[in-house]
Amino acid sequence: MDNKLIFEKSVAGRRGVSLPSFDVPEVDNSKLFSKALLRKEAARLPEVPEFEVVRHYTNLSSLNYHIDKGIYPLGSCTMKHNPKVNERTASLPGFTNLHPLADDADCQGALELIYNLETSLAELSGMAAVSSQPVAGAHGELAALMVIRAYHEKKGNARKYVIIPDSAHGTNPASVIRAGYETIGIKSNADGMIDVEDLKSHMTEEVAAIMITNPNTLGVFERDIAAIAEIVHGKGGLLYMDGANFNAMMGLVKPGEIGFDVLHFNLHKTFSTPHGGGGPGSGPIGVVPSLVPFLPEPRVIKENGKFSLKTGNADSIGRVHSFYGNFLVMVRAYTYILMLGRDGLREATEMAIINANYLLSRLKDKFQLAYDRPVLHEFVLTGTSFKASGVKTLDLAKRLLDYGFYAPTIYFPLIVPEAIMIEPTETETKEELDRLADGLLTILKEIEENPELVKEAPHNTPVRRLDEVKAAKDLDIRHKF
Ligand SMILES: *Cc1c(COP(=O)(O)O)cnc(C)c1O
Repeated sequence: MDNKLIFEKSVAGRRGVSLPSFDVPEVDNSKLFSKALLRKEAARLPEVPEFEVVRHYTNLSSLNYHIDKGIYPLGSCTMKHNPKVNERTASLPGFTNLHPLADDADCQGALELIYNLETSLAELSGMAAVSSQPVAGAHGELAALMVIRAYHEKKGNARKYVIIPDSAHGTNPASVIRAGYETIGIKSNADGMIDVEDLKSHMTEEVAAIMITNPNTLGVFERDIAAIAEIVHGKGGLLYMDGANFNAMMGLVKPGEIGFDVLHFNLHKTFSTPHGGGGPGSGPIGVVPSLVPFLPEPRVIKENGKFSLKTGNADSIGRVHSFYGNFLVMVRAYTYILMLGRDGLREATEMAIINANYLLSRLKDKFQLAYDRPVLHEFVLTGTSFKASGVKTLDLAKRLLDYGFYAPTIYFPLIVPEAIMIEPTETETKEELDRLADGLLTILKEIEENPELVKEAPHNTPVRRLDEVKAAKDLDIRHKF
């Protein structure tokens, strides 16, 4: 591929289509439009034939790695196959042509879909009600913390702190600050789980809630929830579950039944809707009965067989997004739920767990494991064993690109040095998991035999090592001609 911009391929006079000559008299634009509406100079458009446009964008689309190209073992982020049937339903004209301001009576089908989705999520999580208004995981966290604050305020004291274990997802502390609370950090024990004694010593009546990422960022199920719930509830606090990775327990555990009061889901992870590139997501929150009055409004309700959007509850935290969140993401997620059904959703969870443990079993003798415990849907290796040869986890991740794989999450969670965090998801076959394991083991051998090769990777990607700091801090995406 030549890597030229489409503008650089432009040759004056080339056209994608040829139009028939006029069969009416030609009129000057300035006679039809006021001057303010007319361009001062012609638009700068590339002049290229149609096939060149098609080839250009087809080639560009395959320069980027994406889930339709191969396995995407990104830990924590759950990049699984997005079934194409989801796209069929999400492009039904009855949904795509819906005006956001349409009367409830004119969009009964859409409201019913949201209602059914929220009801399904409530059942899966053991919660009393769900609001699918938040549009991202972190947005769900913020909305949930606002609900928690409103609940405590109603009881007379908003409280001051939210406890966060060191194995939590990074968005948690940010959401806490955004919601006007301060964080208290607590440690993990040698098993990579919340240290219950440490929690006990920090839990006071000034603590509004604890936010628990479950499974935590080590891929480990927090075993001591009952004990934690007793301690936190004992002081009037609430238990929040970061359920972004609900695909590790869906159909097996209902958080609402084991002591959690509120949780968020990531439809763009667990429920197979596309994500990445900052595209639209959805982060519904579910709550126990005592928190229902505080949920965002409007809420979709069903009365006498009719669906409507309801507002007017004085305790509600109000709107957290325009209209009702990202509707077409909900259509995709609901399609996934209907396609799999109750048993299928549980089976997807079981497959995600089996796949992660299979891959781990192929790697754990050669790689060092941060915490050697049975995992759920993902696991964390550490690159400390090869650090002596001067090769870092970053280099291994870059070398993986040469073998045609996307790199796993690296340097996260922060409690594991040189972390390599892998989540294969339930959608991959054994052959694909083996291919990834073989790739990783081959690179380990390369590190022994030829560390320079790995340190200088990637060798055959369209671009080599990017200056990521500059790219993030000095963003300039406009091409100058
Ligand atoms: C992805 C993720 C989030 C944040 O979700 P966004 O949609 O990216 O805001 C929060 N917690 C966990 C555990 C996650 O994996």
